[in-house]
Amino acid sequence: MVYIFAAHKGEVEHFIKKLSLGKRKTSFPFLQYEGEEILLTITGQGQINASISVAATLQEEKAKKGDILLSLGSAAVILGKNRTASEELMGRWFWIQKLEQQSTGRCFYPDLLYKLDFPEAGLLTGDKILELGSMGDRDTVSERRGDSKEQIISEIHGDSREQSVSERHSDSEGVSGLNNTLLYDMESAAVFQAANFYLAPEDFFFLRCVTDFGVSPDEEKMPFSPLSRQDRMQALLQKEENKVLRFIGFLQEKSKERRKEEEGELAFRQQLQSLSESLHCSFVMEKQLERLLRYAFLQGISAEEVREYLEQNFGRRNAGNDALQDAENGAKEEVLKGVGNDIDKQGRLTLIDKRAGKKALSSLKEWILSERILQVKCHGSGNLLQIHDNDSEVISPIPCERSGITLPEGKCEKSYPYQEHFRHIYVEEALLQSPETKGILQKFPKAKVIPIKHYKDVFNRKKQGRLAQSHSRKLILAKKEGQRLYDGAVVCQDFSESHFCYTSLLMNCPFHCAYCYLQGMYPSSNLVMFLNLEDYFADCRKWIAEKGSLYLCISYDTDLLAMEGIYPYVEEFARFLNQENALRIEVRTKAGGEGLWRKMQRLPLSLEGRKRMIFAFTLSPEEIIEEAEEGTARLSSRIIAIQKALEEGYLVRLCFDPMIYHPRWKELYGALLQEVFEKIPMEQIHDCSLGSFRISESYLKAMGKALPHSPHTQFPYENTGGYYHYPKELMEEMEGFLYSRLLARIPKEKIFRWDNREADGVNEK
Ligand code: SF4
Repeated sequence: MVYIFAAHKGEVEHFIKKLSLGKRKTSFPFLQYEGEEILLTITGQGQINASISVAATLQEEKAKKGDILLSLGSAAVILGKNRTASEELMGRWFWIQKLEQQSTGRCFYPDLLYKLDFPEAGLLTGDKILELGSMGDRDTVSERRGDSKEQIISEIHGDSREQSVSERHSDSEGVSGLNNTLLYDMESAAVFQAANFYLAPEDFFFLRCVTDFGVSPDEEKMPFSPLSRQDRMQALLQKEENKVLRFIGFLQEKSKERRKEEEGELAFRQQLQSLSESLHCSFVMEKQLERLLRYAFLQGISAEEVREYLEQNFGRRNAGNDALQDAENGAKEEVLKGVGNDIDKQGRLTLIDKRAGKKALSSLKEWILSERILQVKCHGSGNLLQIHDNDSEVISPIPCERSGITLPEGKCEKSYPYQEHFRHIYVEEALLQSPETKGILQKFPKAKVIPIKHYKDVFNRKKQGRLAQSHSRKLILAKKEGQRLYDGAVVCQDFSESHFCYTSLLMNCPFHCAYCYLQGMYPSSNLVMFLNLEDYFADCRKWIAEKGSLYLCISYDTDLLAMEGIYPYVEEFARFLNQENALRIEVRTKAGGEGLWRKMQRLPLSLEGRKRMIFAFTLSPEEIIEEAEEGTARLSSRIIAIQKALEEGYLVRLCFDPMIYHPRWKELYGALLQEVFEKIPMEQIHDCSLGSFRISESYLKAMGKALPHSPHTQFPYENTGGYYHYPKELMEEMEGFLYSRLLARIPKEKIFRWDNREADGVNEK
């Protein structure tokens, strides 16, 4: 459903007519109009009215994540310093990228995923009507840069008249792309807050039409006022109504698509329920059955095939055969129960009891895992993280030869494409003028920069949808406060290092592995870059002074090398490594190829320093890379990088971790090892690690929600002490296979196998 809210009927009257919305006749205290997939509510003026009506409507309608909010209305332009009232602004509809509540200073951020044909603006929500000129001293960030009226106008016209940063700011001191227009209304911040209890920020859209510059006690002083105030307002609101109607059409289509998805989920739940009853499932068994069915359907196995399998193997005749077999084994009770399995009058298989159901469930699992070939790719991923800095060039964060996936375009004429990744960059206000920020922003001259107080205001918002955000990821530049060094988790291999530590310089990863636990760890798909490296170095020095040495993993839960083109983290740490003899650094990566190699060659490290820099390459079979490691380098590219790293005197670790299940895993991992042994001088390898995929219960639960259509989140794992892993037999077979082959090539002491007996819940990259 699309929930539209407006403060006054007069602001949306023409839309009500054009959309043929009918008035709802209910005792609801707010005026409402409805139509296809739309419920429009008139909230009344002010924040209290707005929050009550939004909350009441969404509660009454049982709104939930997936429903859409559109807030429409008029707004005044704030004329701060250096601003003059301009006819250009009047009647323009703006898409609000940031809302600020004037009374509290709190800011709210809708997701900006689509390329809409509206210019963007910030918006201030106040408690009283804006008086003309009352904010003459307001010092917006854009005004601090002294944007001219022409620059403001060029922003309004959007990309078609976009100027390059060099055209707009000849002085290199300027920060590019700041949005210039600041609007004022009396409801939006309250609408956002009330709606966010029910809906996701990816589904929030605030559109505001400029109708004035604040009211004047003396109307005569208002510029551009040939008509009465009300007539002028109507004319302005309708000036771009087709653009708004097109956008509403897009939301209606989106809502219909989501309704279809809901119906699909409902049908699945009914199938699950029916099968669960047939098998006499307990609560836990039903959860297992659900996972199994979701996994099976993702593999292309239909509900009918599942039923057929069960009927053929557990229907009366076969149950009887089983029973005879059991009788031979002396299990008489089983015999009696087994023959009771039957097809009921509705043609449904019904097993005799829970015990028989358990047997059937286990057999079904075995059949699904062994019979099918992985057919369906993870639907949960976004597009490859390609960062466009201008129209002709694509900066891929890694030297990945598989670039070229285009951003998804709309399916129908009402659709809008997704914004390119990093087209919006949120920057903590304290960092706006830092050289690091300026250096990064220069790489994205077309990016819109949105100042924020703290990265958590954007990154930790309620009810975010990782899947939707993955289509258009945003960059957040921030300062890391508090703890910056962490002890390695018990479950993760420490390679016998006594002071094994890791640090987090990025939150999230530029790559997108379908099985990555970050999807269960962070609430957002956006990428946070911490830029206060000197603070990290100070922490390292302190640690070394206290403990004597430090082994630091700097790319522990991300892939730092992939971001080197945007900010040279690894290079900076290499410099630091030269100064600290008691420090060793590990850089884990799935990047590779010539580009990576050029970076490694350029690292400012002495020969001795190179012996304290360990590059840990994660290796997977090409089929797994293709299916589940989106954006990462191909196996051949990773191998080239390994060869070059060895030639250049770096320490190299090979990580066969995590091993990912595939119905042909033995063949795939066998081929991987063969290629590795042929092309890499194993005697020069520092060490190897291996372990099969495992993940904590809580992360997998969150991942299942974020990526419901991924075989990696729906796999029928087993749970041991709070972490999920492959069924024990399979896990041991997979790890044993790899271990025995590695053992033939390198000494035992150089192989680190993850010990699942000690684990309590974290997957290693
Ligand atoms: S598994 Fe590693 S490389 Fe893949 S997305 Fe996660 S952190 Fe990045």
